[in-house]
Amino acid sequence: MEKFVELSLDLAQKCVKCGLCKSVCPTYPYIQEEGGFARGRLALAEMVVRGELPLTEEVSKQWDQCAMCRRCEWICPNNVEYKEIITKAKDMQRETTGQGIVKSLGLKSLELLQSKLGRKAVKVAGMLMDPLPFAELKVPFPTGAVKFMPKPTAKAFGLRGKVFKAEEEKGKLLFFTGCMIDAFYGKTGENVIKLMNKAGYTVIVPEDIKCCGAPHYYSGNIPAFERLKNHNLEEMSKHNFDAIVVACPTCGGALQEDYGIEKPVYDFAQIVQESSLKFKGSGNRLTFHVPCHSYSAMKVSDRVFYELTERIEGDQVKKAEKDKSCCGFAGLFSITNPRMSEQIQREKVEDLRKTEADLVLTTCPGCVLNLKDGVKRHKVNQEVLHLADYLAETLQE
Ligand code: SF4
Ligand code: SF4
Repeated sequence: MEKFVELSLDLAQKCVKCGLCKSVCPTYPYIQEEGGFARGRLALAEMVVRGELPLTEEVSKQWDQCAMCRRCEWICPNNVEYKEIITKAKDMQRETTGQGIVKSLGLKSLELLQSKLGRKAVKVAGMLMDPLPFAELKVPFPTGAVKFMPKPTAKAFGLRGKVFKAEEEKGKLLFFTGCMIDAFYGKTGENVIKLMNKAGYTVIVPEDIKCCGAPHYYSGNIPAFERLKNHNLEEMSKHNFDAIVVACPTCGGALQEDYGIEKPVYDFAQIVQESSLKFKGSGNRLTFHVPCHSYSAMKVSDRVFYELTERIEGDQVKKAEKDKSCCGFAGLFSITNPRMSEQIQREKVEDLRKTEADLVLTTCPGCVLNLKDGVKRHKVNQEVLHLADYLAETLQE
């Protein structure tokens, strides 16, 4: 509680109540109340800590309706540390009123997924489902959410415990694969390694990495985050590497901001951009969805993605008007707030559709999942791909 009080006083000095955060918040247009964007959510936290407001379900609801995209932090002229304050507020909420069954189960399943038994179960499920002639399954959730989820593949966790050597090695990268790539998008993981090797980097994938803990941190389960972080730091310390590479900006943000690692953390696209790799497309029209956490957490400039896509010879890039707007996924948010998530997703899909692009590229596996779900749901004839997959496909050997 003491730590939270400290942060709250800091907030009181920093937030000038300008309301600029309202203009970029994906949840405000649907909630249309002061508690529906950062200024109001922060004010509630402050009032609770000062003892001016009891921590009721109504207050908790305002915090739970936040997608934690952190676009408010990105736009804030006063550098208000929204994430730090709201995660502590949610941690206090968890200790006072509990986290709710759906969120608790969701967070626990992310931990179990990376246990020995969990990995085995996903692999077996992947082997059984691999021959099925579809890539996604329609999954209903008890909250009313229905999503097209990728089916696990036989490749699940297949990169673990291996070293992929570059022919002429410039340096060594530790690839923090992340839960989504591990369980569902193994091919994307292979493609990231292919690109890093071609750019001259040996890639190490540790055997026993668990979830980065960002979903736990953002949900206010700080003890679970600390547990995962300490496990991962110990596992990473067994290897000798120059930098960490990610293909998920949420993992990257957590590693950069909350792990206290001295070595740099790069998005794979930053390394490809710095390389001399060349790409040749086949006349596709491309558009790009910039994941919120790539600029709000990892602070990667979207220039990196546009410069890279413009390097693909023969293809044409069509910038979407709202290329940096949230896709509505936000992990557990899409399950616990299904209606709002679907509305945000619908707007995103409409904006992408207007570009008339054939291919939608992005750099976050969560956004890939949600945009694939969105184009399918709204019958939009666009293919969604992780940028690593398209770069590997168009790479000139
Ligand atoms: S933009 Fe920053 S300073 Fe302005 S109201 Fe939002 S949090 Fe406060
Ligand atoms: S994190 Fe995103 S959803 Fe939450 S208040 Fe900030 S802009 Fe709005």
